[in-house]
Amino acid sequence: MNFDELNISDDIKNAIGEMGFEKMTPIQESAIPEALGGHDLIGQAQTGSGKTIAFAIPVLERIFIPDKSPQAIILCPTRELCMQVASEIEKVGSKIKKLKVLAVYGGQPIGKQTRVLKKGVHVVVGTPGRVIDHIERGNLDLIGIERVVLDEADEMLEMGFREDIETILANTPHQRQTLLFSATIPKEIRQIAEKYQKNPKFIRISDKKQNIPKITQYAFKCDIKDKFNGLVRLLEAYDVKLALIFCNTKKSVNFVRKHLKDDFKVDSIHGDMTQQTRDKVMNKFRNGNINILVATDVAARGLDIDNVDVIINYDVPQNLDDYIHRIGRTARAGKKGFAFTLVSKDEIARFNNIKKSNNVKIIEKEFPTLQQIEDAKIRKVLNDAKSLVNDGNLEKYVKIINKGEYDNSELAAALLKMLMEN
Ligand code: AMP
Repeated sequence: MNFDELNISDDIKNAIGEMGFEKMTPIQESAIPEALGGHDLIGQAQTGSGKTIAFAIPVLERIFIPDKSPQAIILCPTRELCMQVASEIEKVGSKIKKLKVLAVYGGQPIGKQTRVLKKGVHVVVGTPGRVIDHIERGNLDLIGIERVVLDEADEMLEMGFREDIETILANTPHQRQTLLFSATIPKEIRQIAEKYQKNPKFIRISDKKQNIPKITQYAFKCDIKDKFNGLVRLLEAYDVKLALIFCNTKKSVNFVRKHLKDDFKVDSIHGDMTQQTRDKVMNKFRNGNINILVATDVAARGLDIDNVDVIINYDVPQNLDDYIHRIGRTARAGKKGFAFTLVSKDEIARFNNIKKSNNVKIIEKEFPTLQQIEDAKIRKVLNDAKSLVNDGNLEKYVKIINKGEYDNSELAAALLKMLMEN
């Protein structure tokens, strides 16, 4: 189904068209018409499924611009996700004149947010803690709230926001619409849904339609002492453009970063870092100054990064939910991705549990051999060279080669050797 077929304003349709989207993703196709019909929803959807637009459209379609008080609140687990969601909503609403969207989160001076709130905003996107802060200071009035969206609800609960979320829900008008999105639906989510939603429609997109099948999942069993070496081989063999390596502890993060640092463009984030340092590292990653990021689960929560082609679980995650969250950071928006899990002997039981309950097969493999790594590097050099040939513009160099001083095959082989041994 295309966005054009939706019963929504031309402003929104045009903006979506400008964003380059035509066909809806499965979660959008199911959730948008239901939400426009006024139903409460529980959408089980991963990051990358297009869930942001799935709630952005019904939220924006119902905003009454002349009323400059908040009409929708979107709660997200992290500052990064708030910024990303606010920016996506602004894009979808780019043709709606005078629409004001504000992201509120901790770590930013509250005064600036207060001033914008006082001037009037229609949609507030915030972390639960900071939203409560604004409510308590009298900056944010919930009386006009018609829609509340809980984005990545499972992550918010895991981060300890349950009480804040309940406070916010309990203080918004009873007739509000509540849209809940979550990658997993643990018991706590069902409890919140029961308490605060009215006959919610449960929307679950089958795993086949989600992005997960586009993630090729491999596991590598090894001795703990061979793990790091195996990691290096994977990074070399797969010509990684952007990789996220997950570790279970800060200590493990530091170990991996320290030992990769000399040969790779790598940095790390973990929970103890200041927001400023985290932002710096994330910018380096987004700008391509580093292409490998080592992180703990908590530090990676809500990070908005596209184009990660490989996820590596240096440590086996604690459970299936963590596994799904980690690998959901690749293969976004229909792209392909790899997820590698390194499994040492003491992690086998935990890994088997994840494997048993994961819908998609995790294939067990051996680490690439040195020969395979060399073959992969040669393939890459040759492919790069072929693209250069296809691009043309080589006349200047062809002339030099054609002087015929040396045999062309030998020359090409010598150049390949130089590149390989460099
Ligand atoms: P989300 O799951 O909301 O984080 O979205 C993941 C990515 O998919 C974002 O970069 C969106 O801009 C993109 N996206 C959302 N809807 C569509 C669509 N209908 N077609 C193609 N890409 C989309």
